[in-house]
Amino acid sequence: MSKPSTPARVTPDLGLAASLFDRLGRETRQGRGIVRDSYGAGEQAAHDLVRGVAENVGLEISVDAIGNLMMTLPGRDRSVPRILIGSHLDSVPQGGNYDGAAGVVAGLSAVSALRQADVAPPCDVSVMAIRAEESAWFDIAYLGSGAVFGLLDPGCLSIRRSDNGRSLESTLLERGFDPGAIRERRRLLDPSRIRAYLELHIEQGPTLTARGLPAAVVTGIRGCKRFRNARCTGSYAHSGAVNRPFRHDAVAATVALLHHLESVWIREEAAGADLVFTSGELYTDPAMHGPSKIAGETRFVLDLRSVSDATMDLVADEARAAAARIGAEYRVNFDLGSTSDSPPAVMDARLRARLMSLLEQPFEMPSGAGHDAAVFAKVGIPTAMIFVRNDFGSHNPDEAMAIEDFAIGTQALLRLLLDFPL
Ligand SMILES: [Zn+2]
Repeated sequence: MSKPSTPARVTPDLGLAASLFDRLGRETRQGRGIVRDSYGAGEQAAHDLVRGVAENVGLEISVDAIGNLMMTLPGRDRSVPRILIGSHLDSVPQGGNYDGAAGVVAGLSAVSALRQADVAPPCDVSVMAIRAEESAWFDIAYLGSGAVFGLLDPGCLSIRRSDNGRSLESTLLERGFDPGAIRERRRLLDPSRIRAYLELHIEQGPTLTARGLPAAVVTGIRGCKRFRNARCTGSYAHSGAVNRPFRHDAVAATVALLHHLESVWIREEAAGADLVFTSGELYTDPAMHGPSKIAGETRFVLDLRSVSDATMDLVADEARAAAARIGAEYRVNFDLGSTSDSPPAVMDARLRARLMSLLEQPFEMPSGAGHDAAVFAKVGIPTAMIFVRNDFGSHNPDEAMAIEDFAIGTQALLRLLLDFPL
């Protein structure tokens, strides 16, 4: 029988964490950056390394049909739903050492600490190393976690890897996994048998560094509403010969629309709403435009993101109304087209509140980037995320997370494990 919990005395196994980060960095670096290619040699090296460490800790190991690795510390009651601590081990090409890996290492350093202290958690705790979260290799995000719940369109098996052109299906077969799980939409985990999914991840923006905070609790993962094929049509004319009242200037009208949406963003921000707005593509037609011409057409993208569907709907409606008004004013025609929508993922309120109480400097923020946690939340599993401060941005070789900050985030995770059932 294990001793009763003595949570205050248990601290994360930082020796394990430091050595694992070091080995992951050394074994998957190519040139300056990290390359843990989805279902390639780099990701596999990371899985092998992590699995070896988990075996040393004495965890139960299993690998599912598509290669997700589960490393389990048995709980006091093995019949009740378990807790998952997960993240991904793949990286973008020339990425950093911490995106994804930090969450898996956090899980291992938490359960290793429990094992060493001979403290059994109330239920099984599985650390899950998830496959292929990054869309850089197969042009589909959340491949590993989406497949676990049978959420993927089986057509994805024919997607070719961006660098070597091999299909997902043949890549899975080469690695000894079973594409049939995706084709038949087989569910590899039962959501009702999962009590919670917890993910620690580096913050991929500048907020925590700017605020001088080591860690944050994530409120939700922003959804996206995107006008992918917006267009403004006016008419081409001589830039010197046409006075303003006679112009149909597509560039001037598009700039006015973007400027208006920027002011909507500032207004929403001031009102406390969560919103980011970007127009990351804006073109005139190179076959038609010229330095002495008024541009008769633009094509552009409007990308709205928020943890609130209502906010995105409101701003999308305002964009349509502004396009009609500005179109009339500038004598051009806007066609914003339809939106492609991905819904926000809201984190579990009780887990959030508990994690906030475990941080010495409690701070909450939304996640602008997508994470596997969104998939677990989508299938109804209570889900929570912790962000850890990271300098120099992410998806580049310069990611920099201090082990002291990692310790603060992982300690909160460890304490949360021992608090179940909440
Ligand atoms: Zn990530």
